[in-house]
Amino acid sequence: MIKLHKRENDEICSECAGPVRRGRENHRLPLVGDWGVTLEGVEITQCVRCGRRGVSIERLGPLMRGVAAAVVRKPARLAAPEVTFLRKHLEYTGARLAKALGVKGPSVSRWETGREPIGPSADRLLRALVLIHDREADRFDPVQFESIEEGATPIRLTLRRDSKGNWAVAA
Ligand SMILES: [Zn+2]
Repeated sequence: MIKLHKRENDEICSECAGPVRRGRENHRLPLVGDWGVTLEGVEITQCVRCGRRGVSIERLGPLMRGVAAAVVRKPARLAAPEVTFLRKHLEYTGARLAKALGVKGPSVSRWETGREPIGPSADRLLRALVLIHDREADRFDPVQFESIEEGATPIRLTLRRDSKGNWAVAA
């Protein structure tokens, strides 16, 4: 649902010079392949005349940390796009991640293409690397690792800005 309201100093459409209105709506942000997250109440602009739309997503860094924090806490084995997301979040190449996890080079690409599930130890070690990277380790209870079960479905996440403007997982 788009709720558009007129604002002072509305811009002009860069496409057709028509009037542009602003509003907020839920926005699907793709992250890896078909997998992505839903963001609540993102500011959008839409040209009244030609329909050209723009989306502005603020605080992308904290948003990615929020997604990573939710992924490392999921109770099912990491799915292929989540492995890719966490590797990129660490700013690692596939080869570097393989070294860090102590696995053979091609393993990482097999996990990321979904040809092979990530092993249970590598799954947990990858999560731990992300927790350390984001300085989240002291806010994480390692007991959560005990409940990780099989599973190949990526997490479905909706995030919204909290009162401080940070992205938080919507209840
Ligand atoms: Zn336009």
